[in-house]
Amino acid sequence: MPRLLEDTIAAISTPLGKSGIGVVRLSGPQSRSILAKLFRRQQQDLGDRRPVLGEIVDSEKGESLDQVMVTCFLAPRSYTREDVVEISCHGSPVLLRSILQLLIREGARLATPGEFTLRAFLRGRIDLLQAEAIRDLIEAQTLFQARVARQQAAGGLSRRVQPIKERLIQLIALLEAGIDFAEDDVAVPGDNEIGEQMNTIRGDLGRLEATFAAGRLINEGFSLAIVGRPNVGKSSLFNALLKEERAIVTELPGTTRDLVAETAQLGGIPVRLMDTAGIREVTDRIEQLGVDRSREALADAEQVLLVLDGSEELQTEDGNLLEELEGRSYHLVINKIDLPQRLTPDTLKTSARTRSLISVRTGEGVEALRATLLRDLELEQAIESEGGLLTNLRQEQEVRSSLESLDRVKQGLAENLPHEILLLDLYRALKSLNALTGETTVEDILDHIFSKFCIGK
Ligand code: GDP
Repeated sequence: MPRLLEDTIAAISTPLGKSGIGVVRLSGPQSRSILAKLFRRQQQDLGDRRPVLGEIVDSEKGESLDQVMVTCFLAPRSYTREDVVEISCHGSPVLLRSILQLLIREGARLATPGEFTLRAFLRGRIDLLQAEAIRDLIEAQTLFQARVARQQAAGGLSRRVQPIKERLIQLIALLEAGIDFAEDDVAVPGDNEIGEQMNTIRGDLGRLEATFAAGRLINEGFSLAIVGRPNVGKSSLFNALLKEERAIVTELPGTTRDLVAETAQLGGIPVRLMDTAGIREVTDRIEQLGVDRSREALADAEQVLLVLDGSEELQTEDGNLLEELEGRSYHLVINKIDLPQRLTPDTLKTSARTRSLISVRTGEGVEALRATLLRDLELEQAIESEGGLLTNLRQEQEVRSSLESLDRVKQGLAENLPHEILLLDLYRALKSLNALTGETTVEDILDHIFSKFCIGK
């Protein structure tokens, strides 16, 4: 066990700021003895998983700091698998800091960011995928993100990786046995059998890799450009789509451009709305800049909505936009269907993948459009049917490198390479999967993952 597990760590686990209650947490072998020096109470037995009322007393000054509720979680039935003590006091930052200082004076060490979860990992209560999911859960900005993170934290992804790993180990064992006992009449596995098993493993792993598209979408969201000539109702639609979902999500780093008008969520998926001024022929230089930016936004946007005004005939500018988008997959929206219609959508030549008839004024069709956009992301299926998704680049890279190793095995089989050589790549494939779940992790990867937590988690 690494030395860093021997001491007892302490941190304030609730956000710093005034609040009804605040929690200071301890984890480690001395948790209860450190607490005992500061906790004055009626009831002697601290018990397990049961709140006990008492006072935190600074024994040097003989002064009571606050009335608190203390809950002990005895090892191994705790978050870290160590003895954990949670002190709930009034949520005053000075009070929380004083209690923390007392705990440190009595022998605890200030926890580093993510150290409680790191301990849960090092003690084998959770694997690396679950640790990452706990971080995602804390960081979640939409309920949908939280739901997915919770599934992962409960082991959804780990359960999906495990059987693939087991099959890989079986295949390795099969080849090893063929080599080791070749002289003892153990049948050397045929290339067909190896090939078949390989294909099953590659198939499963390939499907796992494909879930990254959905996983990334859930965490990072997508960009949406709403384009159309002036007055077709873009701003109105923009507002209608946001509705109560407005401004719940904060800006994601690296996505800020002056075009990004607002970040919102659509059914729990973060959306970066690109407000595009409209693309049209202009002579004015300043306006030209705006148009260039719109073109850029259009090029960058992952989803595009083209809005036309149904109450007017198609105009040159509409035609230009349709042309600009020709060949691209986008959503066509015909707005203002509450007015007498002059546009004949059936005669439009477009490569749009969906068509929606709406009236932002009456609200007709807006919900259906929202549903169309969400359906188009094909998320539900990915989540419901699988229960485990790759959600970050680290995970995706490990799976991809495992797949690459398996591809080399497949090629080696085709070239009739000796099994000893095939085994090298099979072991590489296994190593990547082990790194994925954290069975063999180098220190710097751990640092990278856990330092993104906040202190007290
Ligand atoms: P933008 O220039 O494309 O952003 O268009 P706006 O959202 O500013 O809307 C232009 C005008 O059309 C405003 O007066 C809106 O109230 C009106 N408008 C927007 N949507 C509808 C609609 O569905 N029906 C009707 N009748 N008017 C609409």
